[in-house]
Amino acid sequence: MKLKSLQISGFKSFADKTTINFEDGITGIVGPNGSGKSNIIEAVRWVMGEQSAKSLRGGKMPDVIFSGSESRQALNRAVVTITFDNTDHFLATDYTEVSVTRKLFRNGDSQYLINQSECRLKDVLNLFMDTGLGRDSFSVISQGRVEEIFNSKPEERRTIIEEVAGILSYKQDKQKAEAELTKTNDYLDRVSDLIAELQ
Ligand code: ATP
Repeated sequence: MKLKSLQISGFKSFADKTTINFEDGITGIVGPNGSGKSNIIEAVRWVMGEQSAKSLRGGKMPDVIFSGSESRQALNRAVVTITFDNTDHFLATDYTEVSVTRKLFRNGDSQYLINQSECRLKDVLNLFMDTGLGRDSFSVISQGRVEEIFNSKPEERRTIIEEVAGILSYKQDKQKAEAELTKTNDYLDRVSDLIAELQ
């Protein structure tokens, strides 16, 4: 399996449709500071299902949509398509070429497509599962990530590991459930008080 191309449109600094073709051998992308090199890597992670806006250097997911410049208005939609040559069927599908597309609109609507057919985020994650390519794999290592892990405090490092291991979302769910439980217990106490008053 080989990365063939990446098409970016309306994603971060890429307002216009931009296609990067990856030929045989090693591809290096060079450019001045702030020209969008990291944005290309983030587009790769995003199209493969990244759900953390923070890890894409944003506050919320719509921040990835082109937000305008001095000469151009902001756009309402970001679209990224990644295409793999799958003639060796490394990805578990009959297709010899696999393309994954992710679209996000400013109102929060989003869409995932595999070979132009609409699918769920889960299908995209399943496609890359156990291939070493998924959004949480170490096949894409962002700038500063290694230093960040080495220089972090033990608690922060634990959070990073939990995020990679996919535990963080369960922890958040647990916190939410515990808060609900506390609220429900408060209601029950109130109901008991009312029953006692009425008796
Ligand atoms: P360096 O070499 O310094 O690491 P780089 O080439 O990797 O830089 P990026 O970090 O990829 O550059 O790009 C940063 C640029 O992307 C900034 O100019 C920033 O304003 C722009 N940018 C980021 N998000 C958006 C957005 N949503 N809309 C428009 N521009 C954006």
